[in-house]
Amino acid sequence: MPDKPVVERKLSELGDTTPERVVARFAEVREEFDRQAVTHSNDPESWRLFVIYWTGRKSGVLSQITDNWLKPASKELKPIVGQELNKLKTHVEATLEEKRKEIEAVAEQSAAARDQIDLSLPGVERAIGTRHLIRQTFEELQRIFLSIGFRVVEGPEIETPYYNFEALNIPEHHPARDNMDTFYIEGSRGGHLLRTHTSPMQIRTMEKEKPPVRIIVPGKVYRRDNPDSTHGYMFHQIEGLAVDTDITFCDFKGTVEYFVREFLGPQVKTRLRPSYFPFTEPSAEVDATCHICGGSGCRVCKSSGWIEVFGAGMVNPTVYGFVNYDPEKLSGFAFGLGVDRLAMMKYGISELPLLFQNDVRFLRQFP
Ligand SMILES: [Zn+2]
Repeated sequence: MPDKPVVERKLSELGDTTPERVVARFAEVREEFDRQAVTHSNDPESWRLFVIYWTGRKSGVLSQITDNWLKPASKELKPIVGQELNKLKTHVEATLEEKRKEIEAVAEQSAAARDQIDLSLPGVERAIGTRHLIRQTFEELQRIFLSIGFRVVEGPEIETPYYNFEALNIPEHHPARDNMDTFYIEGSRGGHLLRTHTSPMQIRTMEKEKPPVRIIVPGKVYRRDNPDSTHGYMFHQIEGLAVDTDITFCDFKGTVEYFVREFLGPQVKTRLRPSYFPFTEPSAEVDATCHICGGSGCRVCKSSGWIEVFGAGMVNPTVYGFVNYDPEKLSGFAFGLGVDRLAMMKYGISELPLLFQNDVRFLRQFP
């Protein structure tokens, strides 16, 4: 730094009384400036302070020279001091401007480097999920029934015993309740339970709507089963119901056969075996010829050639009594499809738990 006192004192005090001395004094100041410019140029903060030190409006070196050297200079020396000061100012300004451009260029360069996209790098791969096999099966089943005039309704998973049992002709102490042991909600008034089938929506729909009714009811249902390779405490079901003034057993059989062929393939044959459900009469188990062996017998069908697909039947007239439908004028059929079971059958899955373990190695097989 030039000695602060040097620019704070008058030239006359410094003994610079001739033009030569003045020129030499300015040359010294300029050399000092150049030296400092080099030492302060590497660090932005240091450079900032350097700029203020030289050009600050009040106490910057250039201002001090103006105040202390130029203003009080003698008449003879004033022109040369002014001239030298201007040269110094021009030099200082040019140097600072050059450095400013340099700093900006460096900043731009590093910003450009930061923003540069390397097109040769592999992109970020985001795994795209697929719909779960159960969801796919739901959609397939719904598609089949929607195409023949059914519509989808959904209902609560927490039900009252009335809708889950009584109105479906399963009174208390009825042995059919043993197969449908479920989970009860503790402390709820009226003893709510987790529905054991989606059949309660038969009742809830018929209570609200006049016939004809053609619905399917997809959803989760619950049983207090010990989990094994084909049972769980939760599974998926689609309940179906068709009620109108002229529905016959032929309509029932035709619908069942159409569904099985659509779902398992046109070559598959069906048969009905007598069965029992409290809310249908007559009731039937629907069997299909094994879609793996075509009926000749294999491991999947346990060598019988037939596979049990689902349970169904004509709506028990007793049920109509619960919803104020006239059993003399109306008839209909109902069925209950086990979605997990149908998916396992169609895709050759032996273990039910595989459907719920969320192992992507398993799920990826069903894109
Ligand atoms: Zn078979």
